[in-house]
Amino acid sequence: MVKVRLSYNCPESQLNLGGIVLMKGQDFQDVPELPEIKQAIEQGYLEALKEEKKEVKKEIKEGDEVLVFAEQRNNKIARVALELLGKASELAQKLNVKTAAILLTDKDSSLSNELIAHGADKVYLVESPLLKNYQTDLYTKVIFEHIKKTKPQVVLYGATHIGRDLAPRIAQRVNTGLTADCTGLDITEDGLLLQTRPAFGGNLMAQIQCHERRPQMSTARPGVFNIIRTEKKGEVVKVKPEITEKDQKTRILEIIKETKKKVNLEEADVIVSAGRGIGNKENFKLIEELASLLRAEIGASRGVIDAGWVPKDHQVGQTGKTVRPKLYIAIGISGAIQHKVGMQNSECIIAINKDASAPIFGVADYGIVDDLFKVLPEIINELKK
Ligand code: FAD
Repeated sequence: MVKVRLSYNCPESQLNLGGIVLMKGQDFQDVPELPEIKQAIEQGYLEALKEEKKEVKKEIKEGDEVLVFAEQRNNKIARVALELLGKASELAQKLNVKTAAILLTDKDSSLSNELIAHGADKVYLVESPLLKNYQTDLYTKVIFEHIKKTKPQVVLYGATHIGRDLAPRIAQRVNTGLTADCTGLDITEDGLLLQTRPAFGGNLMAQIQCHERRPQMSTARPGVFNIIRTEKKGEVVKVKPEITEKDQKTRILEIIKETKKKVNLEEADVIVSAGRGIGNKENFKLIEELASLLRAEIGASRGVIDAGWVPKDHQVGQTGKTVRPKLYIAIGISGAIQHKVGMQNSECIIAINKDASAPIFGVADYGIVDDLFKVLPEIINELKK
């Protein structure tokens, strides 16, 4: 079907095409694409008009908040939750609504104040001994009930193991969409959440909007957004959790900490990161020695991961981790765009590369153009003194 109008090129004031009578000065919708119609369009007697976009019916009752899930472990707020509060404040300002956080815990101590100091206008505090540690069923129930009551416009979660487990369950219950692992969040001119995330293995950045369902929900990568500090006088609202032990389908019997040292690049203050320039797995001893002297975490380019010299959880970049340490030392890394997007927000970047034209120097605060096998032993010796 097409929408058409009799063109001014048409000498007649009306045309009969395959039994359809078209008159000058009128638009005709849903006209079948008959051969006569197509021919008249080709001859310029008919203009094919673009279908106007149908208005999306908005029967959405929206609340007045951007809500952040304030993930805590052992009564310590996850850094990503603070990062999200900074971004949520910016989004809330654009939407002219409040920033809120929901905190599930067994005891609040000073966590609510910490959330307010990082941007929350309101903290929904849900306290129960059952909420001490994350448990899928209980946390899902509490947050689902809360969303039903308060109807926030946007809900944000950190893309941590907990956030990735929780957010899809809530999305399913409230019957809305979820964009996972966002690296960018903004508000469009129409007031919709614009969610950006890498797609197709990082080959393109997809921008996703949720038009018809509420709330709009995303998980966001740790390390991407800035932490802010505010002087806000926020409000703490206690929420009574409607949960009992019967809601628990699983029980935590014991928490066993991983003995293997976890790579914690997102929260590291110093990262010593190596690229293919390090040559082979053996030479990584130099990187390990420097990292241990600086009490740093070890990062790596994808080139190094693909070569199998260190495991994937060390990878920095578009398809690895996004980091923003106080100090990032890039050793033998060329600085491909996919690497830079993951580390360029570090406070201070030092690059060591024998090629003066390596793109890494474009984002570095200090650069050493030399052979890393000459430079690293000298730095290590100095640090040992
Ligand atoms: P190279 O580009 O080979 O650079 C090695 C550098 O070492 C060179 O600049 C060289 O001058 C220097 N060098 C060599 N020997 C010495 C020496 N003796 N002394 C000093 N310097 C020396 N990459 C990432 O890092 N992270 C990602 O998340 C990521 N995601 C990607 C996603 C997609 C979809 C694609 C297509 C690619 C992705 N990449 C990613 C790969 C990226 O494009 C680069 O291929 C990769 O970062 C290169 O790694 P590199 O810098 O270690 O190696």
